[in-house]
Amino acid sequence: MPDRVLRAMTRPVIDHRGPEFAEMTLSLFDELRWVFGDPAHVFVFPSSASGCWEAALTNTLSPGDRVLAYDNGFFAARWATIATRMGLETEILAGDWRRPADPAAIEARLAEDRAHAIRAVLVVHNETSTGVTSDIPAIRAALDRAEHPALLMVDAVSSLGATALDHADWGIDVTVSGSQKGLMLPPGLGFCAASEKALAAAETATSRRAYWDWEETRRSNERGFFPYTPATSLLYGLAEALRMLREEGLEVAFARHARLAEATRRAVEGWGLENYCADPAAYSSSGTTISVPEGVDADALRAEILERYDMSLGTGLGPLEGDVFRIGHLGDFNELMLMGTLAGVAMGLRSAGVPHEPGGVQAALTFLAER
Ligand code: PLP
Repeated sequence: MPDRVLRAMTRPVIDHRGPEFAEMTLSLFDELRWVFGDPAHVFVFPSSASGCWEAALTNTLSPGDRVLAYDNGFFAARWATIATRMGLETEILAGDWRRPADPAAIEARLAEDRAHAIRAVLVVHNETSTGVTSDIPAIRAALDRAEHPALLMVDAVSSLGATALDHADWGIDVTVSGSQKGLMLPPGLGFCAASEKALAAAETATSRRAYWDWEETRRSNERGFFPYTPATSLLYGLAEALRMLREEGLEVAFARHARLAEATRRAVEGWGLENYCADPAAYSSSGTTISVPEGVDADALRAEILERYDMSLGTGLGPLEGDVFRIGHLGDFNELMLMGTLAGVAMGLRSAGVPHEPGGVQAALTFLAER
């Protein structure tokens, strides 16, 4: 989190029903539409991103509706679980966790569904648990080839602001995200960017909703307000974070993330460790998931690095627990921060006695210095 964002959040909280608030919010909505890629509306909830998984489903679908959830990671599986708990008929399309969502498998399943019982397809753009990025335009093309009218819902929690994403151009109906990753904010805001088609679906969908109701929210948003007390300090931070992304330029921010991700992968390769993502075309710009050698406990390595260097690496989630650790390289992050991170990992690998080669840090800094 950049200091600029943290400082913006310390401004005094103003009346959230007053004109100054409305002025701030209306321009914030314009900036949000810009960062998501021109959706019809961006809903902002004081919630974690998981709340917006729920908001996306409850606003557009009715009890018993069928959804096709592509499972290629911990968060994809969790979104599917939430859909089931909400009373939707959740069909899981099991993928390979080391690879991106397979457009051909989605197309084949949708082509079989001649009655169009499937009302929505759920896909995670960047699977934070595995460091795998899926090709959303290819999935859109799969829906189009199958001539299937299902809504395309995309989890962009760890891709927004770090990797190219274009809601309208990519034909996404609902893009779900959160504040705490590429947007460089503390946790606490969830987003649902909706297409006109998703907004139209919300008019007839009968799932029960109260707090998450888009209709009531939109009516209030149009005047620059929210139907509830908003998280004003986080909105201040959000406005500042979006200003920073404007100043840097989105394309430049994406290139910076891609470059730091590549340097991380050079280090992993130099250490002789394995990138969990098995498809180079799907390597994540936001985070890298690293498999540890057989017999090594990744969490013991993480504990060693936390204890000795006060650096917290991502844990293996769900079935990956103990087998992988994760290096996050997204948000307000630069070369020297990355090199510090990689040095901490290198020292930890050594002090924890994890078998590895010594050249990782050098490989990363050679890459960064030369490119
Ligand atoms: N989806 C992805 C890809 C995530 O990485 C996360 C959290 O890390 C979530 C969803 C859930 O977000 P939250 O923890 O903000 O509810």
